Amino acid sequence: MAKFVLIGSGLAGGLLAANLGRRGYEVDLYERRADPREGNLVGGRSINLALSTRGIHALEQIGVADNVLKQAIPMRGRMIHPAKTGQAPIFVPYDVDPNKHINSIGRAALNTTVIEAAQRYSNVRVFFNHKCTGVDLDSATAQLVNSSVAAGVSPASDQTISASGEAVIGVDGAFSVVRQSMQLKIKDFQYDESYLAHGYKELTIPPGPSGSWQMEKTALHIWPRKSFMMIALPNPDGSFTCTLFWEFEGPRSFATTKTDDDVRHFFEEEFPDAVPLMPNLLDDFRNNPTGSLVTIRCAPWFYRDKVCLVGDAAHAVVPFYGQGMNAAFEDCVVLDECLQEFPQDRKRGFAKYFQRRKPNADALADLALENFIEMRDKTASKAFRAKKKLDHFLEATLSGIYLPLYTMVTFTRVPYAQARRRAKVQDMFVYAGLIAIAAILIGLLRWLV
Ligand SMILES: Cc1cc2nc3c(=O)[nH]c(=O)nc-3n(C[C@H](O)[C@H](O)[C@H](O)COP(=O)(O)OP(=O)(O)OC[C@H]3O[C@@H](n4cnc5c(N)ncnc54)[C@H](O)[C@@H]3O)c2cc1C
Repeated sequence: MAKFVLIGSGLAGGLLAANLGRRGYEVDLYERRADPREGNLVGGRSINLALSTRGIHALEQIGVADNVLKQAIPMRGRMIHPAKTGQAPIFVPYDVDPNKHINSIGRAALNTTVIEAAQRYSNVRVFFNHKCTGVDLDSATAQLVNSSVAAGVSPASDQTISASGEAVIGVDGAFSVVRQSMQLKIKDFQYDESYLAHGYKELTIPPGPSGSWQMEKTALHIWPRKSFMMIALPNPDGSFTCTLFWEFEGPRSFATTKTDDDVRHFFEEEFPDAVPLMPNLLDDFRNNPTGSLVTIRCAPWFYRDKVCLVGDAAHAVVPFYGQGMNAAFEDCVVLDECLQEFPQDRKRGFAKYFQRRKPNADALADLALENFIEMRDKTASKAFRAKKKLDHFLEATLSGIYLPLYTMVTFTRVPYAQARRRAKVQDMFVYAGLIAIAAILIGLLRWLV
């Protein structure tokens, strides 16, 4: 069987290694960080994530979905926290079916689960503390620096190694070194990265006195404030991880909020109901990094039968649809299907994977950007809640015909691009229907008077 060299044992890397391992391929997986089971946090990004249908389907393929879901907390809808003090939060369910929910899951635990799923196969080997510095595309060879060696475990001359296989797969995230090597080598390689003017910072609501949750546990909490917002997802230990998405620059922004008083004042003004639940707010704000939010689009995602990109390495999206990881997992399923379809022709397998995934990754990137506006601004309005009710009414009455966009993206595996097109057509019919009803009513009124 062919040998694959995988770069990056993040969420998609572990899952892909398990997928390839179960097909009998030889897999060498290299990760720049230390083993997460040795207490190394997968730091720098969200502590918890929303896992939904596409991701669950991918986890089912490697037989770990049930285990993962046991550690997850279901979130059945959005809990909208109004700006005015004294107003109770409003719950807006995700779907007309109360059983449909997304799942809050810890990044570190999920990462460990997929790596362990891969390690069940003796044909999969995982090497931590190995940082890829470049890939020779034609020979499918990755250059790596072994940082455990650099720490003095072995002689210094052993620090740099090469790893070759029939193909190298870059599962090394948004700032992929494998993709950079493709950029250098492939003429006309298309690359576009765009950063939001907003950054994000994680903060914590600790558990209540008896380990209980201090807010509704089965919801994703949102404090929409027009140009910015805070969200909170529940954790199994009774805590919530909050994420503030806020402008980097501007009169009120990360840049201008410097002192403890500035922070306290901003939070008391904007998130008054959350402040009493955040005893560590000032320390968290001071000590936790401010991350940036990038959308990356590139093409092609493969080079001959030698190199391929998967997950954020191919298509990083902003996190507002809760789909980046779900899409990365879906990539792994599709790549597996394409390799099975063309067992003797890996190049065709890679090409088919790219052809199936690229339009969907582009659609998701757009959906995720649009959903930022919906979450931070529209969720606060009565019109938004009325639209959700209409969506749910139509879904229930026109069962199988009408599916809200959020439902298609989150609770089905309808390809993202198809979901987006279908939602546009549905909206057209709904608006045309509403205009027709209004016209009939006006006609009737005129006739009666
Ligand atoms: C704030 C925030 C919230 C999010 N929330 C959600 C959510 O709720 N739901 C959702 O579906 N998605 C969410 N996402 C997106 C999700 O985190 C990513 O889409 C997902 O992590 C992509 O997985 P990946 O394996 O492709 O990349 P990564 O998870 O980034 O993994 C890449 C791995 O490669 C390793 N690596 C990198 N460079 C090298 C190198 N040179 N050599 C060796 N190893 C290397 C890294 O250490 C890492 O382990 C969120 C993202 C952010 C920023």
